[in-house]
Amino acid sequence: MIWNELESALAQRREQGLLRTRRTLQSPAGPQAVVDGQALLAFCSNDYLGLAADARVAAALAEGAQRWGAGSGASHLVSGHLEPFEQLEAQLATFTGFERALFFSTGYMANLAIVPALVGRGDAVFADRLNHASLIDAVQLSRADHVRYAHNDMAALERLLAQSSARRKLILSDAVFSMDGDLAPLRELLALAERFDAWLVLDDAHGLGVLGPQGRGSLAHLGLAAAPRLILMGTLGKAVGVSGAFVAASTTVIEWLLQTARTYIFTTASSPAVACGVLAALEILAGSDGDARRAHLQRLIAHLRQALADAPWRLLPSHMAIQPLHVGDNHAALALQQHLMQQGLWVPAIRPPTVPAGTARLRISLSAAHTLADVDRLAVALLHASHLLTPPAAETPTPPCN
Ligand SMILES: *Cc1c(COP(=O)(O)O)cnc(C)c1O
Repeated sequence: MIWNELESALAQRREQGLLRTRRTLQSPAGPQAVVDGQALLAFCSNDYLGLAADARVAAALAEGAQRWGAGSGASHLVSGHLEPFEQLEAQLATFTGFERALFFSTGYMANLAIVPALVGRGDAVFADRLNHASLIDAVQLSRADHVRYAHNDMAALERLLAQSSARRKLILSDAVFSMDGDLAPLRELLALAERFDAWLVLDDAHGLGVLGPQGRGSLAHLGLAAAPRLILMGTLGKAVGVSGAFVAASTTVIEWLLQTARTYIFTTASSPAVACGVLAALEILAGSDGDARRAHLQRLIAHLRQALADAPWRLLPSHMAIQPLHVGDNHAALALQQHLMQQGLWVPAIRPPTVPAGTARLRISLSAAHTLADVDRLAVALLHASHLLTPPAAETPTPPCN
């Protein structure tokens, strides 16, 4: 039967420790989660500033729905472009320092828009090996050649660019890598893009709101400004706490996306209330409350790294809210996740294909909504879990990258 194949594929995933499951939360997003009636201290969310369940943001979203309704009724180009979207785009352009911004329903869709809009057959995309899945899919959709370089290896990228005879070139990278928490060398990437006349597309899903003055993102963090060849994608469902995403770029690029991007044109605009919620979140994030949250998050990160200095597993070198604990083996990562869960701690195990084979990890995500005591509780549990060490993970840790 045609479905037997699926059943055996699912069984195989189960045996390999790769079956994915969901848990239903009976509480809003935040460190204090309730799952199946059990209270859990959660370290899973990308809600880095604790804004996802913020009462002010929720109120702005509710008021937005009262004023503008629940739905937008159509795609942006037909009749779904309600005023809150227009205001939000202006705000996002100012916030990121680009000429213009275009709002998308999700970051996945924004990435699928950018790459095919700029390159096609006969062109080449130079992509970091650890790029997010949505960037990988975006290259495939564009039909351009997919040239992958070793993680953050600028010498390799330079060689590949120099060898390429592609008509148009595009460099594609996460600004902060989602499963490792490290920063791409943005200045060097921009210099190479300039030298080889390439586009540079940066995905700042994990830097926006967290890095830089006022949380303006990875570029601002490194003192880099907008440039005509630079295109920024930012998401609004992570540190910004709501949902949606945007592309910020020159007026020309944004106008071209508006004319051609299929994931923009052929989809219903998201709820106008979402735009109202995002506007409120941006105001908080860019103000003194946002500064306090970012400072607290930095204290939590430093505290965790210090507390786990002698842990049986090592943390990958990240200064971000993403603090991956390298385990290696899929089953060992799952066993550690389950062990923590029994103690009321929820930390997700991340396995292939999300990360390279042999680099399964616990992805500890910190949020400004955590307390130092929360971090201590996690650290103590990990320090007392060494009986779960598997010999391969302990003796020959697989390098996390490449
Ligand atoms: C989460 C994420 C996306 C997708 O954004 P959504 O708004 O969740 O669709 C894209 N790129 C990176 C690096 C991400 O982490």
